[in-house]
Amino acid sequence: MSEHFCFIGNQELNGIVRGRSVPSARREAVLASGLPWVPANITIGALNTLPPDNPFGPIGEIRLVPIPEASITFTRDKTPAYDIVLCEFAQSDGSTWTCCPRTALKRAIADLKETTGLALKVALEHEFTVTGLDTLDHIAFSPSAGRVGAPLAERVLTILEEAGFTLDQFVAEYGPGQYEIAGQPTDPLAAADRTVLTLEAIRGAASDLGLHASFLPKPSQKQVGNGVHVHFSLWRGDENVTVDSEWLSGDAGAFLAGLLEAAAPLTLLSTTSPNSFARYKPQSWVGTYICAGLRNRETMVRVVPRQQDATGAYPAASMEYRTSDATANVYLMLTALIRAGLDGVKAGLASPQSVDQDPATLDPETRSSMGLHHLPSSLDTLLVDSVSARVDDWLGPELTAAYLSCRRNDARHAEEMDFDAMAQKLNVVF
Ligand code: GLU
Ligand code: MG
Repeated sequence: MSEHFCFIGNQELNGIVRGRSVPSARREAVLASGLPWVPANITIGALNTLPPDNPFGPIGEIRLVPIPEASITFTRDKTPAYDIVLCEFAQSDGSTWTCCPRTALKRAIADLKETTGLALKVALEHEFTVTGLDTLDHIAFSPSAGRVGAPLAERVLTILEEAGFTLDQFVAEYGPGQYEIAGQPTDPLAAADRTVLTLEAIRGAASDLGLHASFLPKPSQKQVGNGVHVHFSLWRGDENVTVDSEWLSGDAGAFLAGLLEAAAPLTLLSTTSPNSFARYKPQSWVGTYICAGLRNRETMVRVVPRQQDATGAYPAASMEYRTSDATANVYLMLTALIRAGLDGVKAGLASPQSVDQDPATLDPETRSSMGLHHLPSSLDTLLVDSVSARVDDWLGPELTAAYLSCRRNDARHAEEMDFDAMAQKLNVVF
């Protein structure tokens, strides 16, 4: 095998992949042994600053424990040029660490199964903006815009297929140079790993082509936003139990009600940078009202029954959580989604009514009589005790303290910098 580098790492608490590389000659040994790592590194923000109140400081050591099956390889002239292998963050003796996002997701999946017998399947859609392409003829959803983006999408597809999975769709989206790549439904842990690998494949393939791909939620105030739409379905054994007669069955209704009830903490773990909230515009299909609607793209959760089969069931039904974005750590975002839904099932919450209008077009009295509230529209409004307490319930005190220090650090930077200056910097990172 040719000599190249193998990177071991994963998303830290700001959704940024960080880790270390070793020469490929050391690959097998390091996959078995892992690598040392610095606890505070999971809190370095998008502007490369450590939160002043991060709980770790300069002391301590953790370990990057590789997951060899979650990896991609970039090639040059058909020979391996760079590997990315995902990892878990563990204690230095290899045992689980309370601040590891991937471990938190595994616990949430297990708790959902143990408490309710339910399992989730998840498929994520990633929107991104590509600069460097000829976007003059970017006609939304057209083959011409598709062809302009195809060399990038083909490279990504090759990388993913060599890694053992594929993408579901590649779409020329609405904005100039905006595209979307959607994954296939799978269990939440694989969906999260594949998300990290897919985003890195897109970033790396774009840079190999002299392009730049950005997943920043709002690259500029004038541009269409980039969302991450999370399709999820609830399964009991082999049966998709999400939709029942075009709306929601008992457990799925309670799960959905749980998401709406916990909209604020869920948001804090899903749209996490100050830039995220600039995307929260009504009538831009983000879904900024805390409600759910049948096939409604202006609700926080769209219910998508898809085709009914001959027995009257909806085997391909899903719900689509629409407000999240790529600044989130995807493991924590899915942990929050499962925890909020599970809380709803445990409390036996009633299935919400479908909202069949665009809430932004209703007059304020009608909206309030229907109990429709807008999501919190800034990071500051989410950094309050009631929201932190719920995050603490879901993630435990150590991970919550580290996570909140990151969000406070972001909020502090947002006070010091105007939107455009910040967007310019974050555009490079995300
Ligand atoms: N770009 C929109 C967003 O920010 C979504 C458009 C769509 O439905 O694909 O979420
Ligand atoms: Mg889209």
